[in-house]
Amino acid sequence: MGTIYIVVSSLIKSLGGEVVVPPKTSKKTLSIGTKYSPEAICLPYKLLLGNYIEAIESGAEAIVMISSPGICRLGEYSKSIKNALDDLGYHIKYVDVDLYKGKFMEMIKGLKKITGNNNIFHIIKSIHLAVSKVFVLDNLDNVLSYYRAREVNLGTAEQAYKKGLRWVDDALNKKELKEAHKKAISEIKKTEIDDKREVLNVDLTGEIFMVLDSFSNQNLERELGRLGVQTRRSMSLGGWVKTALIPKFLRKGKTHLERSYEFAKPYLLRDIGGDAIESVGDIAYATKQGIDGIIHLSPFTCMPEIMSQNIFPAMRQDGALPILALVLDEQTGRAGFVTRLEAFVDLMRRRKRQLSLAQ
Ligand code: SF4
Repeated sequence: MGTIYIVVSSLIKSLGGEVVVPPKTSKKTLSIGTKYSPEAICLPYKLLLGNYIEAIESGAEAIVMISSPGICRLGEYSKSIKNALDDLGYHIKYVDVDLYKGKFMEMIKGLKKITGNNNIFHIIKSIHLAVSKVFVLDNLDNVLSYYRAREVNLGTAEQAYKKGLRWVDDALNKKELKEAHKKAISEIKKTEIDDKREVLNVDLTGEIFMVLDSFSNQNLERELGRLGVQTRRSMSLGGWVKTALIPKFLRKGKTHLERSYEFAKPYLLRDIGGDAIESVGDIAYATKQGIDGIIHLSPFTCMPEIMSQNIFPAMRQDGALPILALVLDEQTGRAGFVTRLEAFVDLMRRRKRQLSLAQ
């Protein structure tokens, strides 16, 4: 799921475990996952199963998966993946971090099991480093998005960003991470940009896996950058960590979930699973902020996001900003996808010009 592998491998490596990072998610990963998955299961499941099989084939002897509380199929993922791997004859160590039983303590228990390191001081220190990496990665994504929408030579900012990812991945402690962060930012800032380009601002929301994973969303942010659009992820890893892992007394300000509950009213009053309440709340929030548009991403057959999409027409009638809802599945054809993005960008540009003329 995007760059989360850097965070998870940091956690395991700093506790003395060896990490096998599976090959980058590709069409091959998807076709392996699809082959061994129930047909109508959502796309993230298929990709995860494909990732696991590729990791095992690359030498992984254990895999880690979360069982997550919630009102959608994610709660069943872990058991189903274990069954699928057993049926395929992969008898590896399967570590299920059961978040139904509590988040922080279950994570510590899982880390002990995976790495064999029982030193609580080491574990807390590793979690601290990993959480810091989450926020650094989120920041690099934001900086990349700024430069990508304005760069003179296509691809320059992303090349610098990729170097930055390697430096963050290599950082073994907070001091090294701070240096890596600084170095990565200044590398991206070397990108030559056109200051006068008319840039649009768009938020991305929807199911978190689709928002964070560039393979699943067909590299949407790169495509938008090419069209002069700066993106901001309403769904981010940092937002999730702040909601799910950081205790209330250590947090500053509202969490993404708290803000979503507030803004989703009166359209949606309770959690209906997945990231639906966040999606509805993010649209209302983006509308209030007066940005140019929002893109909602969901996997085909995702129940909570089907529900949230059915709320969008009411939000549009009440004056919400332009919303593009994209449903993604294993069809990876690009032409139709790019045409829809271009049409949406045209629409936002025209609307922006009309609004500025009306002022
Ligand atoms: S939120 Fe949607 S895609 Fe994600 S696990 Fe639940 S049903 Fe599947």
